[in-house]
Amino acid sequence: MRPLAKIPADDQQMTSSRVVLDRLIETTREAVIVVDQDLRIAACNDKAVEAFAGGIRPVGRRLTELLRDLALHQAFVNAIRDDKAAELRLELNTRERRRFDVHIAQVRIDGRNFGVGFFYDITKIERLESVRQEFLSNISHELRTPLTSILAFVETLENGALEDAENNLRFLGVIRRNAERMSSLIADILELSTIESGSASVDKRRISLRESIDNIYASLAAKAAIREVSLINDIEPEHSIFADPLRFEQMLVNLIENAIKFNRIGGTVTLTSESKGNYDAISVTDTGEGISTEHLSRIFERFYRVDRARSRELGGTGLGLAIVKHLALLHGGEVTVSSELSVGTTFKVELPSR
Ligand code: ADP
Repeated sequence: MRPLAKIPADDQQMTSSRVVLDRLIETTREAVIVVDQDLRIAACNDKAVEAFAGGIRPVGRRLTELLRDLALHQAFVNAIRDDKAAELRLELNTRERRRFDVHIAQVRIDGRNFGVGFFYDITKIERLESVRQEFLSNISHELRTPLTSILAFVETLENGALEDAENNLRFLGVIRRNAERMSSLIADILELSTIESGSASVDKRRISLRESIDNIYASLAAKAAIREVSLINDIEPEHSIFADPLRFEQMLVNLIENAIKFNRIGGTVTLTSESKGNYDAISVTDTGEGISTEHLSRIFERFYRVDRARSRELGGTGLGLAIVKHLALLHGGEVTVSSELSVGTTFKVELPSR
């Protein structure tokens, strides 16, 4: 931040109002531009230089050279000439569309009028807001589907099906399954929001990898048996990793469950690992249908599914991989995927080794 060198002063002494303004601009976190009566930039802070002037200090240049916006221009004129303050929205049509809330007011320095503009960058806030809205609308939609089904079957039972000895238990079964779906959806949403809010803790310890995978396999054996999928543990007995045991299990259960669900009948799920110096890589490989390239880059997004109806049928929430991704990040690691259609998919979790 430079001082307001270009503001004409009646004498060469910095007056107190200029000093105050200098300091004010310097300490403001938002972009600030001061414009003189000729509508030239009299001063600005580093934030403004970076946001509007491509890193080159614009002092002395016309406001219009910097920001070509009629309303903004007029607001500065009104502030300087008539002491009229204004609030407006500015949109920059740069490659990355940026939006600002702008507040413009008059300041008097050394007996002259200037216009000062404060530019609040709201691009990120708006983006987050739209992600939040989308998330909410997804949640509502996801909850409404099982709820509609529950209500329909309750109504059917009320309207006489309760006495229908052949079907009543089946209808109750549908109600139970949908209620369970809602319950796991809510559990996943809560889990994801805890992880994303940063309040989830990771308690890292040394874990014997092979043993941990054996335990996970034991808990998923029944699911694998239904689809006749073999679970293979190809991890070296002495390989240990540094992770939060519960969180690690949560990641692996999600990945292995998917590897079973999206496998062919009689397929295999194979766990392998590599120690790569400062990190460990754990791979889950299946012999399933694979994921095509167009979907591959999006499957870690919340609620993204290649086949929505099929995922639901298999009891999925569409949040499993989003949870895995965030848990891996929480450990300072990452998860990646590679896949070949009709051959299979490999998810690789990489975690720092200490
Ligand atoms: P879901 O609850 O649907 O399993 P996930 O977030 O766990 O949600 O996975 C998102 C989607 O990614 C799945 O619906 C499926 O289309 C795809 N997917 C995940 N794992 C695999 C896999 N091993 N093989 C093929 N497709 C997969």
